[in-house]
Amino acid sequence: MSELRKEKISCPHCKHEGEFELWSSINADLNPELKEGIFNERIWAWTCPSCGETTYIPWGTLYHDMTNKFLIFFSFDSDDVNNKYESFELPTTFGVEKDYTIRSVYGLMNFKEKIVILQNGLNDLAIEHMKYMISHIIRPEISEKGYHLYFERLDPEETEVSEHGSIYFFYNDEVAQQTISARFALDSYYEHCLAIKIDPRMDLNGNKCVDEGWIDKQLKLAK
Ligand SMILES: [Zn+2]
Repeated sequence: MSELRKEKISCPHCKHEGEFELWSSINADLNPELKEGIFNERIWAWTCPSCGETTYIPWGTLYHDMTNKFLIFFSFDSDDVNNKYESFELPTTFGVEKDYTIRSVYGLMNFKEKIVILQNGLNDLAIEHMKYMISHIIRPEISEKGYHLYFERLDPEETEVSEHGSIYFFYNDEVAQQTISARFALDSYYEHCLAIKIDPRMDLNGNKCVDEGWIDKQLKLAK
């Protein structure tokens, strides 16, 4: 079930006292329109009934996908988060099944990306591991320039290099003001699935935030 709270807001443009809707929990199966609102960012937009100006109000939520069995605790803030990589426990009242993937995510782009990764049935740890290798070793200019690589999509169509199809990533080249797409054989993803299985540093050991920072932290540990 999705959960709605009404919160008070004072319009920053005309000071009109209004109310906005805050979804403290979003069920993607029961409320696909809210999921759409995440991707087009409309759920954070409030239009003042008095002056008509739109204000964006950042709030976090708990995102639940029953079909693909995952839960995401989303926080809007992505910088300087304390204890970001500590494991967290779910309240026992949640009663989700053992095979659920449970993550915390910081920042809107990371939130959208995590949803896309998990609803594609991919292992997000393997994806982060792969992204790390691409942006630090295969194409080091991505991390050197401070750009962030994101998962984009899968393409199952067979190519000259892989019968399994392709996996796409992208990053925003801020200097050229261009979105750069990068395609790899899906076989490479399977290699990363294996790599995280045999590397004890990649043992998650609980519910966590799994992002580039976590991979970086783990890879710096002695093997
Ligand atoms: Zn107003």
